[in-house]
Amino acid sequence: MTARMKRALWAALALLGGTLAMVSSARAEDESRPTPEQIEEARVFVVNNAIFTLFHEAGHMLISEFGLPVLGREEDAVDALSSILLLEADDEALDVAIQDAADGWFLSDESKERDLTDTDLLDTHALDRQRAYQIVCMMTGADPEFFKEFADSIEFPESRREECAAEYERAKASWFGLLEPHYISQGPASSMTVIYEPTGDETMDFFANLLKEAGVLENVAQSVGAKYRFNDGIKLTAKSCGVANAFWDPQAREITYCYELAVDHIVLIDDYFKRDQTAKN
Ligand SMILES: [Zn+2]
Repeated sequence: MTARMKRALWAALALLGGTLAMVSSARAEDESRPTPEQIEEARVFVVNNAIFTLFHEAGHMLISEFGLPVLGREEDAVDALSSILLLEADDEALDVAIQDAADGWFLSDESKERDLTDTDLLDTHALDRQRAYQIVCMMTGADPEFFKEFADSIEFPESRREECAAEYERAKASWFGLLEPHYISQGPASSMTVIYEPTGDETMDFFANLLKEAGVLENVAQSVGAKYRFNDGIKLTAKSCGVANAFWDPQAREITYCYELAVDHIVLIDDYFKRDQTAKN
């Protein structure tokens, strides 16, 4: 087991609550125990980032299943779409989820202890920090009052907030215009197959259970399936892939979420708590 995996296991065990004693004995003496609030925050952070990732992959699915045109970079487009779907769902839990997703990209950016390389700039995705800011742009564009505190906390400029109001409306009108012919006005929801594959590994199974209990796959299947008419046979699968990733496979018509991504997120927030603690000491 790598050091990173070991740290993830400690953080994961901490999330179990009841096994705090195991965690503190596993950790070095000088490391502080996570507080109950941190345990809950970490659990929600992992789940919420999985939800954002799955809505992002659902964006690729909508484009591919309905043959939608994409003007510009698809990765940027589906980040906007996943933000719009979360923000327009009228669900308080999803308003929190999108804030955790923005934080997830900020923390991912901060975790990279190296300068930018061409590899970063050649990537199909924007830089992590750009993705974070663009999500915040969608948030303030959708509801500047509700997300004011969050936007203030990262010093998101007022001038940008004004631009984002127009950007959000344009992105929403464009997406909903393209999706309208596929909207279910009456009749049953589209059905999708949801599978959480067990892994046979203690750490990975912890994450499998966490995501399964939170119903992250069901959340996106129901939310997107209730709104849009898909042909039968779409699968949403969570499994161990050996790499921290998530993807839509248009041939298999399957969204895959890799548990390794949840491990990455637990490490991100665990590191954040430790930095926060060091700053206080
Ligand atoms: Zn993507």
